[in-house]
Amino acid sequence: MLTYSRLAYQHHDHQRCVETALEKARVLCEESHIKLTPIREAVLKTIWTSHQPLGAYDVVDNLALSVHTGKRIKAPTVYRAIEFLLNLGLIHRIASLNAYIGRSFPEKDHNDFFLICRICRATAECSTEQIGDIVLHAAERVGFQVELSIIEVTGLCPRCQQEKKS
Ligand SMILES: [Zn+2]
Ligand SMILES: [Zn+2]
Repeated sequence: MLTYSRLAYQHHDHQRCVETALEKARVLCEESHIKLTPIREAVLKTIWTSHQPLGAYDVVDNLALSVHTGKRIKAPTVYRAIEFLLNLGLIHRIASLNAYIGRSFPEKDHNDFFLICRICRATAECSTEQIGDIVLHAAERVGFQVELSIIEVTGLCPRCQQEKKS
């Protein structure tokens, strides 16, 4: 079955994406008996600011704006929260951009591939077991042990295609 988030390339109520993501995170943490601390939740929310992956520095900067304690959250604290979210599968690191994106399907195993617009960086997550199967099958054939398999597909989103034409 192929699951994909088409919203990345459409006009939509992004607040709902954020709420859904936070809700999924809460459920996932509860099930795993781990705490989604306020800082972890704030970092996740910051990464979910848009469908564009966010670099670690930007997370630190944007977080300072979103948390109203008046105090800047120290970078190592933010990096630890990012690490936590990564391990839990709530976010992904887009290697080609060295940036992080919130996962639309954190409940699915890591059989994801990402469509990444090379102009605006808007990224859509897709998920299917088939990709994982094919990768595992190929790896098995050559005796390779897969640890992490994320496929990044670069191209142009509908909007940037339009702008190129006009
Ligand atoms: Zn959205
Ligand atoms: Zn684009």
